[in-house]
Amino acid sequence: MRHDLKAIIDDIVADMRAETERGTVASYIPGLASADPNRFGLAVVTAEGEVILGGDAETGFSIQSISKVFTLTLALGKVGNALWDRVGREPSGSAFNSIVQLERENGIPRNPFINAGAIVISDVNLAGHRTGDAIGELINFLRYLTDDGSIVVDPAIAQSEAEHGYRNAALANYMRAFGNLQNPVEPVLASYFNQCAIEMTCHQLARAGRFLMLDGRHPGGGQVVSPARARRINALMLTCGHYDASGDFAFSVGMPGKSGVGGGILAIAPGKASVAVWSPGLNANGNSHLGTRALERLTTETGWSVFSADHN
Ligand code: GLU
Repeated sequence: MRHDLKAIIDDIVADMRAETERGTVASYIPGLASADPNRFGLAVVTAEGEVILGGDAETGFSIQSISKVFTLTLALGKVGNALWDRVGREPSGSAFNSIVQLERENGIPRNPFINAGAIVISDVNLAGHRTGDAIGELINFLRYLTDDGSIVVDPAIAQSEAEHGYRNAALANYMRAFGNLQNPVEPVLASYFNQCAIEMTCHQLARAGRFLMLDGRHPGGGQVVSPARARRINALMLTCGHYDASGDFAFSVGMPGKSGVGGGILAIAPGKASVAVWSPGLNANGNSHLGTRALERLTTETGWSVFSADHN
């Protein structure tokens, strides 16, 4: 096992930059389709507070579904375990935006990380708020987690998400018909589209994930969530964080992780590191192609897989 973290990261970045097979950039909205597939960034924040950045680690990108980790954390803070009456905790084995399971399972989404589940979470976080306040709460949470006041929503991406959001609208309407949305569909979807359009850098994302590697603790002091809740969020990331490729990600990378169609992945090595990687080209399952490869290299070389005896 190598222990020279900076050299490991520099090697990975150099190799990923040289790769010619880079995956396919998401094309369902113009703001994502224009991303440069040659970009690659990697940021690692260790439990000791060391920060190692490589490549385009300070370039902002659309975090998309990675936002679902943070909205889940907020929703659990509001309603606790009652959340699990409305959203399951099982891998879906389906695409991120699949509607078929919903009918069979009476409008209860399989988990909080597929789109239907995240839309229910948006509904929970919207209770008693307007959309702007709910998004403000999420942005403030991210600013607190990162100690960085510059995080914002990219309004152009939010707008195009809404313009192309037919499938998400279908999911939301379907769940409302089953009584699993308490607010009107429109503000719930507006919240969901805005959370997907948050822009962050790898550096900021790795900082935002620190509480998940630290048993729920904010490195600046205090608990963000209890140690039990941090473990459970990590468990959901491991089992459900990569849609129907979650098993494969656990197999090849071995860390709790959450991907987004913007090409970012947040991955957690509990007690060791919070890692964010970004490369816009996606594999067939909609997860960052080089991001996944880079994380596989990282766990191989550091022993950070949660399944490794070396992990603890
Ligand atoms: N905005 C995307 C959607 O809901 C997010 C999907 C993703 O990042 O996987 O369709």
